[in-house]
Amino acid sequence: MTTYDDTNIFAKILRGEIPCNKAYEDDFAVAFHDINPQAPVHVLVIPKGPYVSLADFSADAPPELITGFYRAVGATAKQLGLEEGGYRTLTNTGADAHQEVPHFHLHIFGGRDLGPMLVR
Ligand code: 5GP
Repeated sequence: MTTYDDTNIFAKILRGEIPCNKAYEDDFAVAFHDINPQAPVHVLVIPKGPYVSLADFSADAPPELITGFYRAVGATAKQLGLEEGGYRTLTNTGADAHQEVPHFHLHIFGGRDLGPMLVR
């Protein structure tokens, strides 16, 4: 069982202890603009639950949260006007992927041609 550290920065955002530029929120997820954007639109979507990464989220989260989370991802991209031009989603899991924040999150990138999937 993965141990969730509730002092991580996204847990603080979820609790409203530190501010964020919110893009979308519902019962299952919050989406907010990345503090260091890598594209004209760069938004992070996080589930409202104590999950470290995709590993424990996919294994342990209740089905309604998994469904609600991915519906929130689509709703966020739609609300941001990204459906027509397209967008990319990405999730870093663990050390090899350079996951920095230990609360499961999905990046949404858009607003320009995003180029090849991996740079190297
Ligand atoms: P990871 O590497 O874990 O997949 O991505 C973490 C992301 O969180 C990075 O893109 C980073 O810029 C973003 N980030 C880190 N701290 C904060 C913060 O306090 N507020 C916001 N909005 N984004 C943050």
